[in-house]
Amino acid sequence: MDNPVQTPISRPMSNDLIIVGGGLNGPALALAAAKAGFSVTIIDALPEDTRKDRDFDGRSYALALTSMRLLRQISVWEQIADHAQPMLEIKVTDGRAGEGPSPWMMHFDHAEIEEGPMGYLVEDRHLRRAFLDAMAAQPLITQVSGETVVSQTVRPNGVEVTLASGSTMSGKVLIGSDGRRSGTAERSGIGRTAWGYDQTAIVCAVAHEKPHSGIAHQFFMPNGPLAILPLTENRSSIVWSEETSRANMIAGLDDAGFLDALRPAFGSFLGEIALVGQRFTYPLGLSLADSFIADRVALVGDAAHGVHPIAGQGLNAGLRDVAALAQVLKEARARGEDIGGAQTLSRYQQWRRFDTATLAVATDTFNRLFSNDNPLLRAARDLGMGLVNKAPNLRRSFMREAAGLTGDLPDLMKR
Ligand SMILES: Cc1cc2nc3c(=O)[nH]c(=O)nc-3n(C[C@H](O)[C@H](O)[C@H](O)COP(=O)(O)OP(=O)(O)OC[C@H]3O[C@@H](n4cnc5c(N)ncnc54)[C@H](O)[C@@H]3O)c2cc1C
Repeated sequence: MDNPVQTPISRPMSNDLIIVGGGLNGPALALAAAKAGFSVTIIDALPEDTRKDRDFDGRSYALALTSMRLLRQISVWEQIADHAQPMLEIKVTDGRAGEGPSPWMMHFDHAEIEEGPMGYLVEDRHLRRAFLDAMAAQPLITQVSGETVVSQTVRPNGVEVTLASGSTMSGKVLIGSDGRRSGTAERSGIGRTAWGYDQTAIVCAVAHEKPHSGIAHQFFMPNGPLAILPLTENRSSIVWSEETSRANMIAGLDDAGFLDALRPAFGSFLGEIALVGQRFTYPLGLSLADSFIADRVALVGDAAHGVHPIAGQGLNAGLRDVAALAQVLKEARARGEDIGGAQTLSRYQQWRRFDTATLAVATDTFNRLFSNDNPLLRAARDLGMGLVNKAPNLRRSFMREAAGLTGDLPDLMKR
């Protein structure tokens, strides 16, 4: 039986986990923890209807194969599988507007690895709805929507949070999945290293005349990358990063003007294009929490690390935090340990912090190297791409990385 979204009450509630943030990583953790038998209360500042976001708003994610496995394990994938577009090939090229792609390119074809497609493109609206429905069907999860957490107090055996409405709730461990400006991190005294790129991503979807054949394209343009990612039904998702002043100018154009600006970079390989849904802009930056844990607190997803979307890995990294933390908590309970204890949470931090710091550095370096029209750098990266393209082993390791198959995989991502 579905459990309805509950109105908070002023009596403190005792949960295993209190999760602040019901975006994407918070619900994934709630479901993974409930699957392991933990009781969870998840709180989000936005009303449920807003998060369900019924119309197509153009946003999509490239989910790695291992992220898909996690979603399958927590009974979310079955709801979105019919809307997911397998990513069969990736083509990476250097480009300049009006000139088309350079002849130097890297081409990755999933047929060269045995695990199947490197990932899937999933629209934000389907993913959010599937998370909310799966949580509603899980009796161990209580959802509190339209409520903001304003303070938290660490007690000897747990943490108590207070909502703007004055209600309080308690749990053995508090999870911050409240995004890049995580109040949970701030209230725990966790600082962060952060900087902006003076780049803004314009995100939208287009319908096109010709089929994309499941091929994702990444064009490295002088001011930032343009990703064209295949969606179902002859549509593609666009993530177009430009210098912020130019991005604002482009974002301010009407639909016809916007398409005129996009066409020279996009090219004509998919025939005529038309806008579907809305356009969004996201200022781009890097944000890495100085620690992923504090006394009885753990951070996951963008609250812990926010990276440049150049490699489409932000959510994938967050989902890996989720799978790792769920496993650490489950193993701690099996050993009779305190799930919010320092020893337990340190294991999570050891597992995830180095990997995500490496991802942050890699995406930062990649962006600086590729969002650049310096002729020497351009020649060097074209040569590099040509070399990678000629080396099957290197190509395969890039593909396994994109599929999320490398490193110490949490159990929920193994099959
Ligand atoms: C242009 C762009 C393209 C991207 N493409 C990809 C991609 O292809 N693949 C990929 O893997 N990743 C991608 N990403 C990254 C991905 O979007 C993020 O990593 C992901 O959305 C982060 O989710 P989250 O749940 O951690 O945080 P958020 O989505 O930021 O959610 C935080 C939630 O916390 C709630 N909240 C905050 N404070 C409080 C409070 N005090 N009380 C209650 N609730 C609170 C908010 O309401 C919000 O719902 C992209 C990012 C951008 C900008």
